[in-house]
Amino acid sequence: MSDETRINCTEAAELLADYLKTELTPDNAERVQRHLARCRHCFQTAELERRFLERLEQRTTTLRCPDAARARILAALAAARGGA
Ligand SMILES: [Zn+2]
Repeated sequence: MSDETRINCTEAAELLADYLKTELTPDNAERVQRHLARCRHCFQTAELERRFLERLEQRTTTLRCPDAARARILAALAAARGGA
């Protein structure tokens, strides 16, 4: 493992958001992972952001449910109207 593949805290912070959304290339994801394994500070930041994103996701999921139900009802109404 050469030093070239190592990233510092600034680079890790820049990649972190994409890393948590799993939008990084495997190469970059590995770099972040390796940095988090060595750097307690960045590891804690990553954990905090991950939990924040999880909570955000849960909230959007619960918000999406009524919309999906409404869409189903509207589709059923449209189908009933079309059939009549
Ligand atoms: Zn760091």
